[in-house]
Amino acid sequence: MDCIFCKIANGEIPSDTVFEDDNFKVILDLSPASKGHMLILPKTHARDITELGEDIAGKAIVLAAKLGKASMAALGATGFNTLANTGESAGQTVFHCHIHVIPRYDDASSIVSWVPGQSDKEVQKETAKKIAECIR
Ligand code: AMP
Ligand code: ZN
Repeated sequence: MDCIFCKIANGEIPSDTVFEDDNFKVILDLSPASKGHMLILPKTHARDITELGEDIAGKAIVLAAKLGKASMAALGATGFNTLANTGESAGQTVFHCHIHVIPRYDDASSIVSWVPGQSDKEVQKETAKKIAECIR
C-alpha cells in the first residue's frame, strides 16, 4: 500500500520526530496550525480512529495528554487541542489514522471552533436515543 504515513511511521521517509516507541511515531506537522503542532501516527495502518482498536486508541489518548503537557512546559503553550479528523467531510486528508496535538498560546486566534447553535429539548432527546441505539 502506498501510504505516506506508513512510510513516515516506519522510518522510510524522514520526519521531525518528537517521540517514538513500539506503537507510535510522533512527528511535527509539515504545515503547522501553531508552533509545535504534532501528529501521533500509529505504526500499524488504520484508515481512521474507527479502525484503531481499543488498546492502541487508549494508549494514543494517554500519549496525546503527555505531548500536550510537554508542549506547555517546552514552548510556553497555555493549552492544547487534541483531535482526529475522521472522514472527508470532517477534514481528513491523509487516510492513515493520526491524532493532532495542537499547542495553543494566549495571543493566538481560535483554531478549532464552531458557531454554537440552538438546541431543542425534544430533538436532543430523540438524537441522544438514536445514537445510543447504534453504539457497538
Ligand atoms: P488531516 O487533514 O486531519 O488528515 O491531517 C493531515 C495533516 O498531515 C495535515 O495537517 C498536514 O499538514 C499533515 N501532513 C501531510 N503530509 C505530511 C508530511 N509529509 N509530514 C508531516 N505532516 C504532513
Ligand atoms: Zn498507512
